[in-house]
Amino acid sequence: MTERFLTGRTALVTGSTSGIGLAIAATLGAAGARVIVHGLGSTEEISHAEQTVRDAGAASAHFLPGDLADPVAIEHLMQQAGPLDILVNNAGIQHTAPIAEMPPAQWDRILAINLSAVFHSMRWALPNMAARGFGRVINVASVHGLVASVQKAPYVAAKHGVIGLSKVAALEYAAHGDRSSGGITINCICPGFVETALIEPQIQSRAAHHGGDRDAGIRDLLGEKQPSLRMALPDDIAALALWLCRREAHNLNGAAIPVDGGWTAA
Ligand code: NAD
Repeated sequence: MTERFLTGRTALVTGSTSGIGLAIAATLGAAGARVIVHGLGSTEEISHAEQTVRDAGAASAHFLPGDLADPVAIEHLMQQAGPLDILVNNAGIQHTAPIAEMPPAQWDRILAINLSAVFHSMRWALPNMAARGFGRVINVASVHGLVASVQKAPYVAAKHGVIGLSKVAALEYAAHGDRSSGGITINCICPGFVETALIEPQIQSRAAHHGGDRDAGIRDLLGEKQPSLRMALPDDIAALALWLCRREAHNLNGAAIPVDGGWTAA
C-alpha cells in the first residue's frame, strides 16, 4: 500500500475523467489526498472517475465541472474548489494539421485550454499556497514543450508556453515556505507518447498505412521519435507526479522533466 503522506491535503486534477489525469488523481488519492476530479465526460464517465479515485483510497473524491476554454468557468471552478495544496494542470487537447491548413478556431481553442487555463488556475491557487507555506503545481506539458514536430503548431506553441509560464511562477514563489513545510514548487512533466485516447487518432492514421494494423501504426509513430520504442503508461506519469508532491521535492522547482524514452536526448 502507498504511504499515505498526502492525508489532509486537497488536490485538484484538471482533466481527470480519463487518461493521465485519472491516473494522477487515483495515485494522489491512494496517498490519502482529498481529490477534486474535473474534466469533460458523460455522467457515467464522471461517476466512473470518481469511483476509481475513491477505490484507490482517496479521503474523498468529488467532481467539479468547468470548461477550461472559458476563463469565467475556470474562476468558478477555482472558487468552488477552495484552497488547494496540489494543483495538477493536466487537461489538454490536440489537433494535427500543417500551419496553412490549421483552422484558426483550433489555434484559439488549443491555446485557451492547453496554455491560458494554466495561467488562470495558478492565479487563483498560488496565493493560498503561499499563505500556508506548502503547495505543489504540476503542469502536464509535453515533450512538445521542449522540441517541435510538424503539424502541431498550436500544441507545440502552447506547451512551450506552459514551460515558460511555470518557470515564472517558480521564481515568483520560490522563497515561500521552508524545508520543513515543503515550500511551493511549480514544475512541468514532459511526456513523450503515453497510451491514452489523445494520441489514438495519430495511431489510427499511421495504422491506415498498414492495412489498419494498430501495432504497426504504433511502431511507426514511436520509431520516428521515441528511442525506447515503448509508450509510457498513465500510471508511470502519475508516479512522478506523486513524487513531486513529497516534502523532499521542495528544491526541485521550475523544472521541465522529460519522460520520453530518450526523445529529447538526441
Ligand atoms: P485524454 O484525452 O485522455 O484526457 C484529456 C482530459 O482533458 C480529459 O479528462 C478531458 O475531459 C479534459 N479536457 C479536454 N478539454 C477540456 C476542456 N475544455 N475543459 C475541461 N477539461 C477538458 O488525454 P491525455 O493523453 O491523458 O492528456 C492529458 C495531458 O497530457 C494533456 O495535457 C496532454 O497534452 C498531455 N500529454 C499527453 C501525451 C500522450 O501521449 N497521451 C503526451 C504528452 C503530453
